[in-house]
Amino acid sequence: MKEKKISEGKTKKIFSTTKEEQLILYFKDDYVLKSGKKLAITNKGKSNGLVSAYLLNYLKSYNVATHFIDQVSEREILVAKLDMLPLEVLVRNFAAGILAERYKVKEGTELECPIIEYYLKHEENEDSMINEDHLISFGHASSDEIKEIHRLSSKINAILRDFFRRRNYHLIDFRIEYGRQNDRIVLGDEISMDTFRLWDLTTDTYLDLERFKRNREKMAEIIDDIKSRLLMESS
Ligand code: ADP
Repeated sequence: MKEKKISEGKTKKIFSTTKEEQLILYFKDDYVLKSGKKLAITNKGKSNGLVSAYLLNYLKSYNVATHFIDQVSEREILVAKLDMLPLEVLVRNFAAGILAERYKVKEGTELECPIIEYYLKHEENEDSMINEDHLISFGHASSDEIKEIHRLSSKINAILRDFFRRRNYHLIDFRIEYGRQNDRIVLGDEISMDTFRLWDLTTDTYLDLERFKRNREKMAEIIDDIKSRLLMESS
């Protein structure tokens, strides 16, 4: 099935398959800090692959259009090839990180309503925040596509927030990416410990992995714990 590596990003490798319209995403163990420095975290790729497969499939069951087709192995998922938009969508439920800093909102404050932000993806530099007018003006997406991205992101947030809450986590924020498949907007990429931040209500701890960067074993332990709790079938 898997043919050859066609590209390699910061945390995943992409392989072509025997079918032109399908790809395999392979999850690496690399964790990239804000500074750009890479850390190898034991079994991170396996956990992220499993959690992504599970959550993408879960969203599919709520009729969210996603690229997910099948889980190939713990570290690999089979997906529909998309024409990716050069964009990251960040959905926030609680104030954290740069939002808390920039707007002087106390970290951990629950937001009155979720905030959806757009960031342009760059190869090198830090991603820059961009608004709907920029997106249209620069030709990245049409007005209808942006409406659809906004609608889907709100829906995904509502579904995931509940999902995490039932497992005793607050979903602080998460980043997602979209692409086009025959002119339709489809959720791509991953949903994993690399793309969401949680508050553990059991231990009252903010699980932003970056905070544990000096202790790779602890990072591996946190990732493994989240995976186990999320994939528990009973909740
Ligand atoms: P990056 O280094 O770009 O941050 P990754 O290491 O996660 O990212 O590499 C994955 C790449 O695969 C990203 O550029 C992402 O946009 C792209 N991608 C994700 N899903 C799909 C898909 N279904 N079709 C095509 N490209 C995809």
